[in-house]
Order: sequence, then structure tokens, then C-alpha cells
Amino acid sequence: MQNKCLLQWTVAGLISTGLFTACQQEKKDYAAHDAIIKNIDTTVKVGDDFFQYANGGWLKKNPIPGAYSSWGIGNVVREELRDQLKKISEDALKANAAKGTNTQKIGDFYYTGMDSARIEKQGLQPLQPELSRIEQIKDLPGLMAEFAHLSTIGVGTPIGTYVGQDAKNSSKQLLQLWQTGIGLPNRDYYFNNDELSAKVRTDYQRQHLPALFKLGGMADAEATQASNKTYALEKFLADSSRKLENLRDPYRNYNKMPLAALSKLTPEINWKDLFEQMGYKGVDTVIVGQPEYYRAVSKALKTYSIADWKQYLRKNLLAEASPYLSKPFSDEDFRFHGSVLSGRKEQLPRWKRVLDTENNLMGEVLGQLFVKEYFPEKTKERYVKLVENMRTAFRERIAKLDWMSEETKKKAYQKLAKINPKVGYPDKWKDFSDLEIDRDAYVLNVFRAATFWHKRDAAKLGKPVDRTEWDMTPQTYNAYYNPSNNEIVLPAAQFMIPGAKDENVDDAVVYGYAAASTIGHEMTHGFDDTGRQFDADGNLKAWWTPQDSVKFTQHAQVLINQFNNFTVHGLHVNGKATQGENIADLGGIVIGLDAFKKTEQYKEGKSINGFTPLQRFFLGYSLGWLGQQRKENLMNQVLTNEHAPGFLRVNGPFADVAEFYEAFHIKKGDKMWLDPDKRARIW
Ligand SMILES: [Zn+2]
Repeated sequence: MQNKCLLQWTVAGLISTGLFTACQQEKKDYAAHDAIIKNIDTTVKVGDDFFQYANGGWLKKNPIPGAYSSWGIGNVVREELRDQLKKISEDALKANAAKGTNTQKIGDFYYTGMDSARIEKQGLQPLQPELSRIEQIKDLPGLMAEFAHLSTIGVGTPIGTYVGQDAKNSSKQLLQLWQTGIGLPNRDYYFNNDELSAKVRTDYQRQHLPALFKLGGMADAEATQASNKTYALEKFLADSSRKLENLRDPYRNYNKMPLAALSKLTPEINWKDLFEQMGYKGVDTVIVGQPEYYRAVSKALKTYSIADWKQYLRKNLLAEASPYLSKPFSDEDFRFHGSVLSGRKEQLPRWKRVLDTENNLMGEVLGQLFVKEYFPEKTKERYVKLVENMRTAFRERIAKLDWMSEETKKKAYQKLAKINPKVGYPDKWKDFSDLEIDRDAYVLNVFRAATFWHKRDAAKLGKPVDRTEWDMTPQTYNAYYNPSNNEIVLPAAQFMIPGAKDENVDDAVVYGYAAASTIGHEMTHGFDDTGRQFDADGNLKAWWTPQDSVKFTQHAQVLINQFNNFTVHGLHVNGKATQGENIADLGGIVIGLDAFKKTEQYKEGKSINGFTPLQRFFLGYSLGWLGQQRKENLMNQVLTNEHAPGFLRVNGPFADVAEFYEAFHIKKGDKMWLDPDKRARIW
């Protein structure tokens, strides 16, 4: 793990101690080991497609490998990490550690996943007890009990529960219900008329579902019938599921009700029994995200027969288990999810698949070992400082806003001051002692891990909120903002630049790559269309004056319109659904610029490899989105994801920023040009 911020503090230190020549020496290294210059494609006109200009050289030299649906900087970081995790897992296996230790769990999980001969020999056998449970369902109470059981082993049912903070009282944990129950990635796949959606749903209904049923032991005709029924049932649930953009409004998706009201809404469901069977104790109030969805579930329990529901559950079980079963199962899983949905050409080698699963299920166990080696305490301190520079710049920016009243500004300062940064890795690691890992069957280890997480979640009910907890592991190339805790969570891996030593990365690139695209982005989430509705203590509460709310919405609309106009393979980007991310990107860039303008490098203004500090800032930001995607993957993202495709997260917001025009002499007539009155300006 390298720290790309090293130079920033080193230079400051050298200047303050008067060792300026050493600093100059360091600067020569910037040019020799430049992390951005080699990515540039000089055949592209800067003002026409900046993303392609900044990254096109790399993209040409790094086509997407067959086993991937996309390839970019995040993948390169993850490849490096996988090599480390492999070593950790192999060492754990060799250690022959005592039962119940983390080392035993890592070693045995890896062992069962890698023993392909045994997995082939076992075939469907590890799943038999679960299949016969489903077979024995006779009536509605039996069906509900099976919903409860399957959800504790990580298999999908129409009931989606989790324990989370009450949006209006962030110090309380409540049981929450959210829409779920469908097999395709998003409800729109069941209805949309675009080319990809039609292709995906036809394959799902006519090939994937029958294949799963046949692998589970059904004859052809029966499998076809079961597929049609299951598809119809899912389509019914999808029809009452909200679209992506309608899941954003925190008030519309907050429907707190006592159990009695929930039972009235869904007369077919005995929630008291169900929650008890799921291990949720003493539930009297729940928050229902989408009441109309649960009304539809209740209706479906009456409309569809027990036999239909059994087939639906059989399919869910087989689909969930397939990646961990023998080759015919994992091949079909790959054919549909990897190839049809994402455009991948071949499967990842087994060891990579096993490690990805291990990392998903036991990530913090691996993370503890990872940070020890790659993210020392002093590195953490540097990033904590960068966060504070961004916080200062953000405050100054709010002060200068001409559209916001003093009254709202005062509360915005309070909220900003209270943002809790979590940097690198958690102060307190999760306790995995209740996780059981055995050597019997790979798929059963996956189920046991799901049970561990389910029980851990259920145990939070009625207990105080643990605000030290992380929802991402330190080895994740990503970051998040959690409105209920008013916190930004910045995993160590997110600060890595593959192949670059930190001492060779100049401030301009660091401020673009880490401060703007990650830290500033996450901070701005606290002030995006949803985040802004939560107050300094993480409670959903109107703290804006109504006039300021209206003005915010007007400013955001400019950005929504801008993104609605972008098309990808004929599909329009969903400006409304992606607005939170686009607001965060734009905020991150302008706040990052303000913070960068305070550095010595910016003030000196010396070029490195022919690029001014300001130009390098924008190139550094673009580095965060270095990557390309297959057509299927890109279209899938546009349909199902709140994040616009990477290239638009560069070209979109840059066209709104005056310094970008200034830095690269963008002129009217260039493709990226926007008239000044058309440019979005929020934070
Ligand atoms: Zn984001």
C-alpha cells in the first residue's frame, strides 16, 4: 500500500524547515514517474472529449480481458489486492489453526472453495436438505416459515428485511422492509422495450429459468411450465416495485407503522410469526419502504398457488447456490449473469472467484491483515489531514453561495462541522467468533456465512447504534456517505494509484484523484438531493428554509437536464436517478479546486511534463475514472445504477466548471462547450 499523499506533506515540511533544495529534487521525480502522462491520447481534441483525451492512451493499451465486463483502475487495484488475499488464504490453510480462530475460518473456506474435484463429486447433494424442506411445504404458514428460513441462509424471498437506523431518529435501530423478490437486476427489465432489456428477459424466461429447473432435477415440460409461472409471479411483483428514481425520496420511502397497520396493509401475512421465525425479537413497529410492493406480495400469496410458490423458491435456492456448486451450475450462472447481462467472454479462474466470495463474506478478517501491511498509522494521519483541508474549503464555499440564506447557511456549517470522517480502516474490528466455517461443502460455508450476517443484523434490534461500524472493508476500492451517521467512510484501498509511488505523485494529481473525486464527493453527498434532507445528527428533518429548498431544486434541475441529454448506445442516462452522484461529483471538483488553490504547487504554477498545475488537477481527477465497459455492462448500468457511466462523470461535471475551460482553453464550438448560463452550479 502506497500513500499518494506523501509529497503533499513532505513538501510543506521541507519548506517550513527551509530545506527547499531537497524539495526541488523531489519535484524532478514528478516528471520522471508521472502517473498521468502515459494515459493521455494526444490524437483526441481536449475540448471534444476530455475523458478520452486524459485516458485514451491507457484504454487503447489495456483492452478489457475476456473474464471481465469492464476494466479500469479499480480492477487493477483489485487484482493487486487479490494477489495479497491469495497469499493470506494459502498461509491460513497451511497454518492448520485451531477450530474457531479466524485463521481456521479463512483456511477452511478457501479449502472447500478450491477443492473442485469434491465439488464436482458432490453435485446437487449439499443442497438436498434445503430442496426437501421446500418440497414439504403444504400450506401458507409452511410457506411463510420457509421464507423465514431461506432469508437466514441468504436465499431470496419476496420479503426484504434489514435492521437499520430510523431515518427520523438516528439513535434508534428499527426493522425495515424494502422491495425485493425479483430475479432480474431491476424491475424495468420486465417492461422496457429497449434492445438489451428485451434480450435479457427473453433469455431469462426461455433459457435461464428452464436450465435452473432442469439442473434441479425437473423434466423438460415441467421445467418450461415452472419457468413461465415463476416469471409471471416475478413480473407481478416487479409491476408494484418502484423505479430507481422513485427510491430516492427519503420521505416517500419512509413509512413507519405499527405491526397492526402493516397487517391491515397485507392481510395474508402473519408478521408476528414471520419476524419471530426470522430471529427478529420484540418487533412492534417497522419502517416500510414501499407499501404498495408489500400489498402486492400479500395479494400474490392469494393469487398464486402453494405449488407455484414452491417452484419460485426452488429457483431462488438454485440461483443463489449455483456459483458454488458443480460445473453445470456455475456455467449456467456465468452464461446468464456473466455473459448475457454483462457481456463477459469467459469465467474468472476458480481461485479468483473463491477469493472474491471470501472477501465479500469475511472481508474484515482479511482487512485486518491487509492494513497492517499496506496502510500504516502515519499514512492514515495524512489522509485525515486532507479531509480537514476539504472541510475548510467546503465551509468557505458555502459562505460565498449567493442563492442560500444566512439562516440555512448556519445550519449547513453545523452539519459540515459534524461530518465524521472514517479513514482507512475501522478503529474496532467486527467480531467473527460466531461465524462457523467447516470443511464439508463450499456452498454450505457460503450459507453459514449468510446466517452469521443475518443473526448479527437481527441482534442489533433494541441495542444502541454502534457508530464505529464500517459497511465497507478497508480493501474496497470505493467509499460512501451514510446520512444517518453523517459520516464519510474512506477505505484505505481507495487512495491507491496502481504502479505509482506516493512520493512521486504531485499535489495537483492528489487533489484531483483523492480530495476531489473521493473525499469531496462523499462530503457533498451530505448535501445532495437526499443527503441535504438529513440534519447534522443524521435525522430526516427539514432544516432548510422553504425558499432555499426551492432554489436548490432549481439548481439541481440544470444538472438533471444536462445528464438526461447524454445517451449511451441509444439509451438516455437517467438524470433524476443519477442526480445525487452528479451533484456529489460536481461538488467534489469545485471544493477540491478551492482546496488545491491553497497549495504551494498551485501558487508556484510550474508545469510538469508540459502540464500546468490546474491541468494536472483535472487529469488527476480523470484518473479516478480510468476504465472502459462492455456494451452489455454499460447498458445494464444505465438501467439499474444511480451512478452515470465513468466517462460522463468526467465530461459531464467538467463542462460546468469555469477553471476547466480556463485550464485547457476550451472554446465555443468544442463539443464539451456549454454556454455559461447553461452550466450547473450548486455547491
Ligand atoms: Zn457517490
